[in-house]
Amino acid sequence: MQNIKFVPTEAPKQKPETSKLSFGKSFTDHMFVMEYSPDKGWHDARIVPFANLTLHPASTVLHYGAEIFEGLKAYRTPDGEVQLFRPMDNIERLNDSADRLCLPKLDPEFALEALKTFVATEKSWVPDEFGTSLYLRPFLFGNDETLGVHTIQNAVYMVIACPVGSYYPEGINPVKIMIETDDVRAVRGGTGYAKCGGNYAASNRAGEVAEKKGFSQVLWLDGVERKYIEEVGAMNVMFKIDGVVVTPKLTGSILPGITRRSCIQLLKDKGIPVEERLLSVDELLTALQEGRLEEAWGCGTAAVVSPIGQLSYQGKNYIINNFEIGKTTQDLYDTLTAIQWGTAEDPYGWTVKI
Ligand SMILES: *Cc1c(COP(=O)(O)O)cnc(C)c1O
Repeated sequence: MQNIKFVPTEAPKQKPETSKLSFGKSFTDHMFVMEYSPDKGWHDARIVPFANLTLHPASTVLHYGAEIFEGLKAYRTPDGEVQLFRPMDNIERLNDSADRLCLPKLDPEFALEALKTFVATEKSWVPDEFGTSLYLRPFLFGNDETLGVHTIQNAVYMVIACPVGSYYPEGINPVKIMIETDDVRAVRGGTGYAKCGGNYAASNRAGEVAEKKGFSQVLWLDGVERKYIEEVGAMNVMFKIDGVVVTPKLTGSILPGITRRSCIQLLKDKGIPVEERLLSVDELLTALQEGRLEEAWGCGTAAVVSPIGQLSYQGKNYIINNFEIGKTTQDLYDTLTAIQWGTAEDPYGWTVKI
């Protein structure tokens, strides 16, 4: 395994107050960086003071969007320790994304070691209130210095980190979601299952329209028939219909969320049946109108679980569960956050101590 060089900052920053933390605005003192080239492989792994990058103006990432990323959190447990949640799942997903975009893959064992070493370096930046965390953003991009379109030769892998506040400073609130019928985010055979910047670029327009209309996010439909539910913004979705939790199956156009995977496991262990299958808007809205849609929620690392209180489709609004958080949604949130923040036992071996 490579050594990780450490260059400490000479100007440590003032840490923001926990109560004033917002998402992704303040960054820690250091960053992890390494480069890839065909002759050296991954090399020069280092933790260095946080700083701007210098890129060649023709760098591949700037022109052809060769960029993939991950998002995970470091949590402070009640005993003051710091832990990660299923970090190897993030590393494996990053490698799956790399595969799709023809970017060089990481050695998973080394990537985990690097992540742990980086978090250990920035440990004092992990805030200590329940609900707050240190958000980690690993990312990898093509960095050839040519405009020629060809196989990527050179790449950069980095990890940066931001202390983030609780997603729900005033308690969990249901959100309003707009079902998008014009734009699509991804198609089967495309990059939907990869966590790549390009998917977000393609989502911007619908997101902007939805926001202007007062919705917090967009619910995507499949790109071919515009009929089946896919996912919400940066979250997977789940619906409780007639006592059964239904979530869109992973068809290749949906991001395989780690929170989704964890929720499915927790639901099954609580004795709630889960179906991963195609779910059409028609089926969903029929269930809603017949009073059989009990709850709906999104799930992802940032919010953990986010109840959906209203859906809008073709200009009509539909209220779910009286715009209240449902019992299963609340229970999932409580169980998952207790494992992540270490206030309950982790019977699954999902957490990794730093
Ligand atoms: C990251 C992401 C998710 C959620 O994945 P988690 O691993 O649960 O955080 C869902 N959808 C999209 C498009 C994403 O980028």
